[in-house]
Amino acid sequence: MSAAVAVAKEKLENPPLDLHYLGDKVLRQKAKRIAKVDDSIRVLAKEMLQTMYSSYGIGLAAPQVGINKRLIVVDTDPENPENEAYVLINPEIKKFGKDMCGFEEGCLSIPGVNFEVLRPDEIEVSYRDELGKPKRIKASGLLSRVIQHEIDHLNGVMFVDRVDNQIALDEELKEHGFSSKSVKKV
Ligand code: ZN
Repeated sequence: MSAAVAVAKEKLENPPLDLHYLGDKVLRQKAKRIAKVDDSIRVLAKEMLQTMYSSYGIGLAAPQVGINKRLIVVDTDPENPENEAYVLINPEIKKFGKDMCGFEEGCLSIPGVNFEVLRPDEIEVSYRDELGKPKRIKASGLLSRVIQHEIDHLNGVMFVDRVDNQIALDEELKEHGFSSKSVKKV
């Protein structure tokens, strides 16, 4: 990641952006492609990173802060200052691996709710970085998981839409103050 969007990995008392939560319509829209990677996009990426670190997250998509753009940020090891964060602009999954893998997911937009979700283990994803450079990476494990979860957000999909155990999910959502009517099975 370039200096253009580098931020300290710290918890701010007043993060720059407000999170939006399950039930909010902005989370259900298909986000728009970013035509030009300029300073306004870099400022947004920076503020998203600061907001993500402040909330103990490992990924954040622009719709989660109420912005309808195809931009996600990811840092799978936020406690480690050496681990680089990713800024992915207009990310697109070009290839899915054959092996599926289950892992417990959570979401900053559905605090307190965690469920296992099945996803392909490996992906190849193309995107533009914060300088507008085209990139393509192979990812597996946690990085692949987070990128898939965040790209879902850009398409209006929440991880709870992918949970099979409807009864347990309904209970868990209720317990944390969310309505199961906000779930849209995929
Ligand atoms: Zn999420």
